[in-house]
Amino acid sequence: MTRLRLITTWLLLLIPTLLLGLGALYLLKGEETRLASSAKAAAGDRSTAIAGNIDLAVAEVKDGLLETLRTLPRASLAREADQLEEWKRGNPLVRNVFIWETGHGLRYPDPEMPSSDEEADFIRRYRALFASQTPWQGPPGDSAVNNSPGQASNILLERRELRELAKQAPAMADVSGAPASDAAPAVTNGWRPWFADNSLHLIGWYEWTGRPLRIGVEVEMMALLSRLLGNFPAEPPYTETYALLDGNGAVFHQVGRLEITPSSQPLATAAIAGLPHWRVAVYANSTDGATGGSFLLLGSLLVGIFVVAILFGGSLLLWQAHRNQVDAWQKTSFVSSVSHELKTPLTTIRMYAELLGEKRIEDPDKQRRYLQVIIRESQRLTRLVNNVLDFSRLEQGRRKFTREEVDLAALLHGLLDNQLVRIEEAGMQLARQIEASPAVVESDRDALEQIVLNLIDNAIKYAAAGKLLRVELQPQQGCWLVRISDQGPGIPSAHRQQVFDKFHRVDTSLTARQQGSGLGLSIARQLAEGLGGALVFCPGSNGGACFELTVPMGGEA
Ligand code: ADP
Repeated sequence: MTRLRLITTWLLLLIPTLLLGLGALYLLKGEETRLASSAKAAAGDRSTAIAGNIDLAVAEVKDGLLETLRTLPRASLAREADQLEEWKRGNPLVRNVFIWETGHGLRYPDPEMPSSDEEADFIRRYRALFASQTPWQGPPGDSAVNNSPGQASNILLERRELRELAKQAPAMADVSGAPASDAAPAVTNGWRPWFADNSLHLIGWYEWTGRPLRIGVEVEMMALLSRLLGNFPAEPPYTETYALLDGNGAVFHQVGRLEITPSSQPLATAAIAGLPHWRVAVYANSTDGATGGSFLLLGSLLVGIFVVAILFGGSLLLWQAHRNQVDAWQKTSFVSSVSHELKTPLTTIRMYAELLGEKRIEDPDKQRRYLQVIIRESQRLTRLVNNVLDFSRLEQGRRKFTREEVDLAALLHGLLDNQLVRIEEAGMQLARQIEASPAVVESDRDALEQIVLNLIDNAIKYAAAGKLLRVELQPQQGCWLVRISDQGPGIPSAHRQQVFDKFHRVDTSLTARQQGSGLGLSIARQLAEGLGGALVFCPGSNGGACFELTVPMGGEA
């Protein structure tokens, strides 16, 4: 696979995968927004339902209190004041009572002589109202809201209780006046929300036709509010907190685990008509909203993993395909280069053998030289076949080493003597520095010979121009070190590791001129390592190539 094709294929994998990932993220974002808005809408519904129920309860309290006022027996002013006072004492929802007369102002409690601080405060609080400086009729507000079925029964019970409480009339055993009846219809009645001392108060009144008196009541807000809290769910959903906020935005009551601060943003709020400026608010417990930014985070993480998995898997497949292609190409080129290498010595052998066979050469010197060529070429064939055999055995892990005592010095001398003619024919001089003798190792003789022959072959093939082949043997830290160096062109630094890979050949004009399969060094290194030693490239000081073979003295290191 060419580099361009590889990049194109990878891009074809990368672009759709990224587009897929982006598309998934876009959909996730949309889904998160949709979830957030539906959570908001649901929170809005819940807050409205709670506010509606509270509103209904307040309305029933108001109705109940007015109903009691309506049914109070009418009598003299003092008598009615006594009844109202009695009512106030007996009903926790009643904070103050009053009688007001058109044209006269407040008749009871006596504005000049309040009987308690509470009464004095009451008179002061509603001074403007009692002096008719503000209208008695408050803004309309009651509204009924349906509640969710789960809460309905509880809330209805509490509401009934509240209504009963509001209607709770004073004890009237000694009442002498005639009880009020429907025969005397009211002309006015009403409720007025009143803001004083930074808080909300509720005041209601009743007035009969033809009577200038207004009797009224101020609601005990704390008693009322505390009885409204049952409208909140006892156990709110884990993700939400519900709160009743007063007119100043402060939390009067809350259910849920969120610590509400002035900066907390509610998901939804609903106003309570019966308690002006009071609101029911629903908060998300986590800072990232009711649906959770965690949804998007988790989704993005999954999409990321998915994209990376596709890219990784795809890249792995591409890499594998590339490897397979390279392998296939290497095998084909291996077969063709080995066949080519086999063909040359075979042709030479056949040519010289035919000449000798036809007895056309009579000169004994020539005959001897031709025979030597045949011997050398057949030796070359043997080396080549040995390499191929070693390669396949090493590849399949079948290469066995037969260890015996080998004198490395004698082995090197013997090999070099055999190769001397070839070396000299290539125009090279051989320099031996094999002083230590015997250099005994416990090793495989054939493998050692194969390694050294491959290195000498390479020097003859690629470094003949350097004119010198140096072979040294010396001891080094429990090993014998065989150094084979030349003064040829050397190996470019980028290829110094790769030349030991199978089929790797340096791409130069010199290599192009020489036959080779790129196996010699790979086999030599594998054999050296199999023997417990190593084969490395060391750049020579004169620019040539230098290979160092270490063989452990006592066999495997
Ligand atoms: P082959 O000789 O069959 O190509 P090798 O594995 O023996 O395979 O060598 C790999 C490559 O290393 C050679 O193609 C050559 O380019 C380079 N090489 C090996 N020995 C030498 C040397 N002594 N001088 C220069 N280049 C060398």
